[in-house]
Amino acid sequence: RVVLGIETSCDDTGAAVVDETGVILGESLHSQKEIHLRNGGIIPTVAQQLHRDNIERVVQEALERSGVPPTQLSAVATTVKPGLALSLGIGLEFSRRFVRQHNKPFIPIHHMEAHALTIRMLQAVAFPFLVLLVSGGHSLLAVARDVDDFLLLGHTLDEAPGDTLDKVARRLSLIKHPQCSTLSGGQAIELLAKEGDRRRFAFTTPMGQIYDCCFSFAGLRSQITMAIKKKEEEEGIQPGTLLNCVNDIAAATQHTVASHLAKRTHRAILFCKAHKLLPSSNPTLVLSGGVASNQYIRKALTIITETTQMQLLCPPPKFCTDNGVMIAWNGVERLREGKGILSSSVDVFYEPKAPLGVDITAEHTCPTS
Ligand code: ATP
Ligand code: FE
Repeated sequence: RVVLGIETSCDDTGAAVVDETGVILGESLHSQKEIHLRNGGIIPTVAQQLHRDNIERVVQEALERSGVPPTQLSAVATTVKPGLALSLGIGLEFSRRFVRQHNKPFIPIHHMEAHALTIRMLQAVAFPFLVLLVSGGHSLLAVARDVDDFLLLGHTLDEAPGDTLDKVARRLSLIKHPQCSTLSGGQAIELLAKEGDRRRFAFTTPMGQIYDCCFSFAGLRSQITMAIKKKEEEEGIQPGTLLNCVNDIAAATQHTVASHLAKRTHRAILFCKAHKLLPSSNPTLVLSGGVASNQYIRKALTIITETTQMQLLCPPPKFCTDNGVMIAWNGVERLREGKGILSSSVDVFYEPKAPLGVDITAEHTCPTS
């Protein structure tokens, strides 16, 4: 079994051919990151046009590199939810034409399910496991019980941590820093934080008095923005021109984001243990999504998993951010279990908003540290 995966949910046009054992036969990725960085954020119509310009070439490249002709494909898997409507539309439109032309089964993919399952392509991880997904558009804790069966323990109430880091980076004009000109906001903050002292700024970790597993980053972002404004005013300089304490702000920002993620995850682990949602031997936490590339955040979660006797697994950065490989692998997993496979003629629509799994966020609280 060989699956072609196609990803266009946000700002990466990705395609890959993956076989049933998880071998990547061919892949191609076109990132729009630099253009969106220059625009100061993603403009949906710009992202759409870039996907349109690149999708044909990216898919052709992945197929050519794999040496697998379309006739030999077992199925085509494509992200159809959640994401930017205009971006999702391009991948879906392309896939619809492709599966009809080659008469192949079609597997619609949930982007967050794909992020959660990527680790299973890289190593043996049995269901159920706990997963923390942190990215540009999401922050969620879920128990992965099967390929298509997730128990949602917590999600963000406002913005996602990657979005917060990107906005703080933009507020500080980090793109103008020589070392940061091609880095995403999160990457720039990680780099600058290395030379910073987090204790110079004290930001409050969000939701300290709310005993559930949800997240919130908008309040933290306004704390950070106010601290930046105060410094700029003290120094009598224009907004976005702060230089001397940028490293300290980056370090404090990264630390507070890590602390929030770690505390909510700790509570989720205790909840899972209390309700026997995870196996007693070798229970696992999987960390993924773009923000999971951050070494400081990984370290914070390592401390939590060590104190709770959990195993922490995290795909390498390349597989934490968006790519076609994870979509193809999700297709392989679904094909193997015969779940959600459609004939080439069935009409599928994209869904910009789509929660992952069964939502039990409102049903539990678990008071702990
Ligand atoms: P979603 O998966 O929710 O649809 P997305 O696809 O835009 O969102 P990803 O590609 O998974 O998100 O991740 C991109 C985000 O990850 C950006 O917000 C970026 O700032 C953040 N990020 C990337 N590298 C790092 C890092 N080293 N530290 C912190 N954040 C990072
Ligand atoms: Fe993503």
